[in-house]
Amino acid sequence: MARRNPRPEATQKKMLIPLKERCEQCGQPLWVAHHSHRTVTTLPGLWKLTLVVRQCIQPSCPRFHKPYRPEEEGVWALPHGEFGLDVIALIGQWRFQEHAGVPEMHQALLARGISIAERSVTHLMQRYEELVALRITDQQRIKARLQKQGHVILAIDGLQPDVGHEVRMP
Ligand SMILES: [Zn+2]
Repeated sequence: MARRNPRPEATQKKMLIPLKERCEQCGQPLWVAHHSHRTVTTLPGLWKLTLVVRQCIQPSCPRFHKPYRPEEEGVWALPHGEFGLDVIALIGQWRFQEHAGVPEMHQALLARGISIAERSVTHLMQRYEELVALRITDQQRIKARLQKQGHVILAIDGLQPDVGHEVRMP
């Protein structure tokens, strides 16, 4: 079905580059495979993201030609999502703290200059509920896994822990 309102042009542009420069499996330098494009609507505006996708070119590597996408991509939006996580968070806040209805939230987003269909508001509200449910079950899953594993390797802000320098927790 065609969109009734065409999406406005992106007003801001950003290039996302993977932090990893070497393959996590074989340690060889990664090569740029291609650039991928996404348009994401956030509260401050519409962004056109150019993503640098890298790959390992070592034929014997288990990660041969598997894409390494920029780590930062996940901060912007859910996979295949057209709206930023900030829009989802705002809808969740309106819904669960202020008990706002979908038409009301739709109007409030339009008033902020965000071009969005009412059914997309419903869709994002459902994504918010899933993220909350996932966070709760994920904490239980992580706890169960840690108890089984007995230790954890800490990685901060997408930096890979150095092999041989793991921080072990009892
Ligand atoms: Zn590799």
